[in-house]
Amino acid sequence: MEHQDLLAGFVRLHVLHHAVEHEIYGLWMIEELAHHGYRLSPGTLYPMLHAMETRGYLTSRTERVGRTARKLYRATAFGKQGLALAKLRGREFMGEALKEAPSAEPPTREAADDADA
Ligand SMILES: [Zn+2]
Repeated sequence: MEHQDLLAGFVRLHVLHHAVEHEIYGLWMIEELAHHGYRLSPGTLYPMLHAMETRGYLTSRTERVGRTARKLYRATAFGKQGLALAKLRGREFMGEALKEAPSAEPPTREAADDADA
């Protein structure tokens, strides 16, 4: 994934968001993230899920599916707390970053001259 370090926080928040709503598992999460434009391999996502569990954001249980086992994750209370804070910060950031430029006021001559100086 390009810009992986930069976008890793968004990926974790997507994981948390869905893990609050229902149990998730790795392959489902990989497909869900792909819909949002994040292409993650199991080799990237699984360690991420595991690390989020170690940090207390997720809890897991193992379910047998035929002869294989599947690990299902849910958000913990701590994870919900973190997500709530991230939503606040995210709204704050988007408000600033996506603010439309004051299009009615093109740069003044003075401002252009200042830029040249
Ligand atoms: Zn999502």
